[in-house]
Amino acid sequence: MSESADSGADIRISDIIAHPLTQELPRPTVTSWGKYTEVSIVLVEVRTDAGITGVGEALARFSPKAYADLIETSLKPRLIGQDPTAITAHWNTMRRALSGRAGGMLFEAISGVDIALWDILGKVANMPIHRLLGGMGRTEVPCYAASVNWGDDDFMDRELDRYLEKGFPRIKVKIANPVKDACRRIKRLRRRAGDDIDLCVDANWAYTLEEAVEVGRALTDNRYFWFEEPLRPEDETGYEELHRRCGTPLAAGESNYTLDQAMRLVSNRTLSYLQPDVARSGGISETRRMAEFAAAHDVQYAPHIGMSGIICETASVHLAAAMRNVKAMECETDESPFKTWITGQAPGADRQKNGMLPVPTGPGLGIEVDWDAVRRLRVQ
Ligand SMILES: [Mg+2]
Repeated sequence: MSESADSGADIRISDIIAHPLTQELPRPTVTSWGKYTEVSIVLVEVRTDAGITGVGEALARFSPKAYADLIETSLKPRLIGQDPTAITAHWNTMRRALSGRAGGMLFEAISGVDIALWDILGKVANMPIHRLLGGMGRTEVPCYAASVNWGDDDFMDRELDRYLEKGFPRIKVKIANPVKDACRRIKRLRRRAGDDIDLCVDANWAYTLEEAVEVGRALTDNRYFWFEEPLRPEDETGYEELHRRCGTPLAAGESNYTLDQAMRLVSNRTLSYLQPDVARSGGISETRRMAEFAAAHDVQYAPHIGMSGIICETASVHLAAAMRNVKAMECETDESPFKTWITGQAPGADRQKNGMLPVPTGPGLGIEVDWDAVRRLRVQ
């Protein structure tokens, strides 16, 4: 079932192509889950009969061909011939096409198409997306370095130094088990960074509740500003108890796919920072709803980027530029073909100055895709 989505605009969706892309990471990412050496995404290309093309990105760490197939067989047939500017109607149509509980690759697929539709809307209106969102007039947005990888003491010291040398005032540290090692390194890195650098940690679900309480004590003693994903995301009761027992503000949301899934811990203010990923949480449309809901509860919005590509990063910059409650967005610091090849831009770490990333000014996302690079990265 689809709603009437004809706004009278003289433009129609003529094709949707989902490109499954894979790359080896130039430097592995090491978290409490282990070492990532390879990552995938799906780049979504939405074409129109007016010659305007929009691009989006779906988070698809593994099996990107399965995501591409889902987009081209389930979503594309419902959108061909439609007015691309009726984005909310298309979001509802896509949601209904993928029945059952929201989440997983179903929502990641919707995210890729939604971002591409916003890119088209911006190009039709000749405005950057952050202005279409009724923005804050920002020309740059705050970001933080992600991340100091987990390893032994000396390795983590060197990781920290890399980000200090790049001039980041905010730096995230990956922590894991054993707890005593995590607590020692939390203290060691604070001493090394000095008092003027803002530090936070990401545990990627490493701990039990009691372990998280112990790590939380070290974070509070050493003035870290957030404790990200200490527990598995489904344990909402655990987060609520940890909030009562831990003095460091809690951050989570990269594992929440929708506003519905984030609603409980935002509305009771267990979380101080909500971190939806635009390439996972239903695209710009749903991520904006999540950020606005967070703002209504005095919870700050902190876009998650992870190992995603330049389209996810750029869509996040537009959202960060437009939302009133933005804290800081993640800035992946390693060179990545998903970022540098696809647009020819330097890595975020080299474009930021003093922890501020520039906001694009061109229409839509404001980026030009190098389609030869997309072909080189495409999984056959
Ligand atoms: Mg994280």
